[in-house]
Amino acid sequence: MGYGNNLGKYQVGRTIGEGTFAKVKVAVDTTNGHHVAIKIMDKNMVMESDLKNQVQREIRTMKLLHHPNIVRIHEVIGSKTKIYMVMEYISGGQLADKLSYAKKLDESEARKIFHQLIDAVDYCHTRGVYHRDLKPENLLLDGKGNLKVSDFGLSAFHKPASMLTTACGSPCYVAPELIANKGYEGAAADVWSCGIILFELLSGYLPFDERNLIMLYKKISTAQYTCPEWFTESQKKLISRILNPNPRKRITISEIIEDEWFQIDYVPSCGYECEEKIFLDDVNTAFDADEDNAAETETPESSSFINAFQLIAMSHDLDLSGLFEEKASL
Ligand code: ADP
Ligand code: MG
Repeated sequence: MGYGNNLGKYQVGRTIGEGTFAKVKVAVDTTNGHHVAIKIMDKNMVMESDLKNQVQREIRTMKLLHHPNIVRIHEVIGSKTKIYMVMEYISGGQLADKLSYAKKLDESEARKIFHQLIDAVDYCHTRGVYHRDLKPENLLLDGKGNLKVSDFGLSAFHKPASMLTTACGSPCYVAPELIANKGYEGAAADVWSCGIILFELLSGYLPFDERNLIMLYKKISTAQYTCPEWFTESQKKLISRILNPNPRKRITISEIIEDEWFQIDYVPSCGYECEEKIFLDDVNTAFDADEDNAAETETPESSSFINAFQLIAMSHDLDLSGLFEEKASL
């Protein structure tokens, strides 16, 4: 593996992933020899395509999340033309790749992955963060086969009771209420995507998979899917409670956790509240904070919903606008 280019203390190596707006490369932190993953975004492309808010949100969101099943972001570096997000390196590849060669997982492995997915999603939802693009391409596996949720590019801090209005995500994993283009609750929409992922883990194929988009949407909206004959009654029961087209009647995360199939071998993995002082110091060194980011923050309707996470998110110390200014920091 060649490590030709330097980015501060990082020696940047080969490309390990490519998405719509970003390239992800592996790098080595020369101060300790640890591997990191660096997501590289083109500043002009981000600015021209009006993605500034989305990228800022992604960075801010990931910085607030500390959970064993969520990819950690270490720091963000801005140069004249690029934005570099330095993250924890996850060595085992995408869950999507594993599914493509393993076809389907055995029940206990599927359940373990699903436990970790639900724990990570529960942790995010408790903090007002909705992923909105959960799918096996955004779920990475570490060297021990543990799940790490990545790619918060589409997530958003969210006022309680207000509705998210941006339709997003991949068609096969998208909840019916998003397709119908009504306002929707981020939590229920994420639960739906988790149900699609669970179905796929246990069967090796998607519950709704049509080339024709209209047919696909019709099947999603009416939850028309067929379980393989090897699904057990308890698996079918849980999946049907998740894939309920009515978001109000759909099972919630806490009900999933109480489910009898889910409870088997369940050991909750816990996130923790980050050390605020260290966290803010880190942000202050990484960014210039001198632009008003009012458009990026929301005032919660009720003060009882403001927790430490939301306070940090709303604070100007977290203004990421410095990243997008012309002056180079590299
Ligand atoms: P995009 O927003 O373009 O989809 P992602 O954040 O999903 O970008 O990253 C694209 C791909 O790069 C991922 O699907 C994964 O294969 C790889 N990747 C992303 N982050 C990491 C990481 N921290 N460690 C290892 N591989 C990663
Ligand atoms: Mg992605």
